[in-house]
Amino acid sequence: MAETRNSIEDVWGPRTFHSAGSWPVRVDERTTGDVERWVPSVCVLCSTGCGMDVGVAGGRIVGVRGRADDRVNHGRLGPKGLHGWEANASGDRLTMPLIRRDGRLVPGTWDEAMDLIVRRSKDDIAKYGPGSHGFYNSGQLFLEEYYTLGVISDAGIGTSHLDGNTRLCTATAAVSLIESFGTDGAPGSYTDFDLTDALFMVGHNMASTQTVLWARVLDRLDSPNPPKLVVVDPRQTQAARRADVHLAPRPGTNLPLMLGILRILITNGWIDSDFIRDHTVDFETLVDATQSWTAERVEAVCRVPPERLQAAAEILGTSPTLVSTCLQGVYQSLGATATAVQVNNLHLIRGLIGKPGSTVFQMNGQPTAQNTRECGANGEFIAFRNWHNPEHVAQTAKIWNVEPSKLPTWTPPTHAMQIFHLAETGSIRFLWIVATNPAVSLPEVGRIRKILAKENLFVVVSDAYLTETAQLADVVLPAAIWGEKTGCTTNADRTVHLSQKAIEPPGEARSDLDILLDYARRMDFQDKDGAPLVKWTDAETAFDAWRRCSEGRPCDYSGMSHQLLREHGPIQWPCNAQYPLGKERQYEDGVFNTSADYCETYGHDLATGAAVTPEQYAARDPKGRAVIKAAEYFPPPEEPDGDYPFLLTTGRVVYHFHTRTKTGRAPDLNAAAPKAFVEIAKADADRLGIDDGELVEVRSRRSHVIVPARITGIEPGVAFMPFHYGDEGDGADTLPTAANRLTMSGWDPVSKQPHFKYAAVAIRPATSVSERARDNGATALAGRRDDRTRSEGRQPVASGETRR
Ligand code: SF4
Repeated sequence: MAETRNSIEDVWGPRTFHSAGSWPVRVDERTTGDVERWVPSVCVLCSTGCGMDVGVAGGRIVGVRGRADDRVNHGRLGPKGLHGWEANASGDRLTMPLIRRDGRLVPGTWDEAMDLIVRRSKDDIAKYGPGSHGFYNSGQLFLEEYYTLGVISDAGIGTSHLDGNTRLCTATAAVSLIESFGTDGAPGSYTDFDLTDALFMVGHNMASTQTVLWARVLDRLDSPNPPKLVVVDPRQTQAARRADVHLAPRPGTNLPLMLGILRILITNGWIDSDFIRDHTVDFETLVDATQSWTAERVEAVCRVPPERLQAAAEILGTSPTLVSTCLQGVYQSLGATATAVQVNNLHLIRGLIGKPGSTVFQMNGQPTAQNTRECGANGEFIAFRNWHNPEHVAQTAKIWNVEPSKLPTWTPPTHAMQIFHLAETGSIRFLWIVATNPAVSLPEVGRIRKILAKENLFVVVSDAYLTETAQLADVVLPAAIWGEKTGCTTNADRTVHLSQKAIEPPGEARSDLDILLDYARRMDFQDKDGAPLVKWTDAETAFDAWRRCSEGRPCDYSGMSHQLLREHGPIQWPCNAQYPLGKERQYEDGVFNTSADYCETYGHDLATGAAVTPEQYAARDPKGRAVIKAAEYFPPPEEPDGDYPFLLTTGRVVYHFHTRTKTGRAPDLNAAAPKAFVEIAKADADRLGIDDGELVEVRSRRSHVIVPARITGIEPGVAFMPFHYGDEGDGADTLPTAANRLTMSGWDPVSKQPHFKYAAVAIRPATSVSERARDNGATALAGRRDDRTRSEGRQPVASGETRR
């Protein structure tokens, strides 16, 4: 048994000053028994993608350790990585299929379950067409699984109703990169954090969501030559406390804040005119759009003092190098894509992209969200191709040996919220949910649970546990998870790891790849010559098929193989004949992926989401120049008023990932943050007569929850809740605590990401709560790690996403 530190108490570990290329050894390890063998793998509890070895003894996982030679984390691991593996051995793992009979889920055989699925699938396709089928998947699978799902959905069934829970997570990251640079994919590298002179973190609570990356930043901040730090967040997060300038705009006002910052840069001439002239188009539109956003107007809308705005802009406008990061505070809020694109614009007008120490991270939240997007499991076309480019469609049809007309190009891909709406209205009759828990993670969860329980909707859930969603399914398929299967993951800086199978899955659980291959075989999906459409049989051959499909695209894996990853370790894409061991940065030559014949979409109007037509795009083909896009601000659809005077924002705590399906089953993580709560400001608490820890009712126009109050440094008038907790409450023994009972079903017009980050709510002391329920609710504070009594290193804070 070994533990290099108590990562629950000491989240980020000791400081290890480093410069590029020089990393003091720090290998974090936690084991609960003697290790017989170590198996190379990667942590899949956030998008950082830390390399780790899995310790195995007696056919069970007994611990993990960081990999010292891994380019991503250099041996460091955070609390979720060091503890999350314990969920594999949770006693409530699903070990055999479950089939609903007479209203109850009862055990069945794989043949019974798959026969039922295939019978229903064939019947619905015959009667109602391919559009009767929807697939809602994850940011938690492996590349090989996403690719197989994409091929089945696009070329096997031919439905456009395919999306991932990346819609709640990094849909805006993908779309904002596409709008500005032509295709998805991070421009830079994590090493840029080591080299930069300034960091700009916008709605990205890195200290909670990516603890090892934040440790890397802390190493810089505590070094003799620290970068400047500008943080945009309505909450007093760990990063906000370390910032040189902290901007705390009202939720829903990120866009005017960014327009105000860009105006100051342009007015002061803090721009790179040569770069703008040679490498971008449409700078004038930005000049026009920012003109009216004076510091005074920004203050009126965002409540950010002019002197703070000026101080932030001066850092961002004059720093020789700059790394910016965005996450859910941008993506799940109003004007999501429009705001993210303004952060891209900041780098474009300063010419700070594609250079060491200068990049923008439209950050991923989930560990394999990049693969969801690359493989088209989010509905986008495979390998960053363009659904509306007939040549791209023909290329793909040729690779899969199907007729182009088989591919669902006639309509835009259906986003998650629309998939559930189509299920609600009866248009989608067969919904397969893979490795995600929408009964907790989607807005208005009460409505989502009613949809999943509908009589005329056949719901298949593949999962490792009987989640809130699985409980509503017609068939539940027991899935093998990380550690129990082999496959690749690509993290937020394009680093590809091979995660190797360390142990056997429990009972009859199978990998999602095996489940999908079985479904494809039983459905008898064929190519145009009558051969099986899905020609691979395991993860390695699936990867080989994918590398051929990705060749020539920005996410080019053609030079990679499982064998190379086994021998060499992690590699960044693109990896091909030109870059046999990968390439660290994109766009070093200032040439972007925007040419009409290469780009991933033709772009959108950022305010309305209206698509630019192929003809319009071709007429003004940027031909490799980045596109500077301006956007108009519209106020939130729901503003505080007399009845609902607070703005609620939701997010994460450091000890949990998504809906806690894994972290809630790791005893120490769960004990550190066992229950939901609501953060409010001291001034508001005093005014309402609310004590710290007291149960309060938080009510929106949609529903209510009852949770303990936490009094923190959050801005007055703003409240925060973690979204991890799915309890609906029965009123007697348990209280309703699911934050997504309160959130609304609106979404960003371009990326279709739901608006989780603001909802008008009322807060008052909870009365008429049963004593038993009160006792249960009050335990929320019993196990918590208090962020107000601890030094940096131990503080639960938030941002946002979903799952396993
Ligand atoms: S930072 Fe993310 S990838 Fe790294 S150990 Fe923590 S949860 Fe895992």
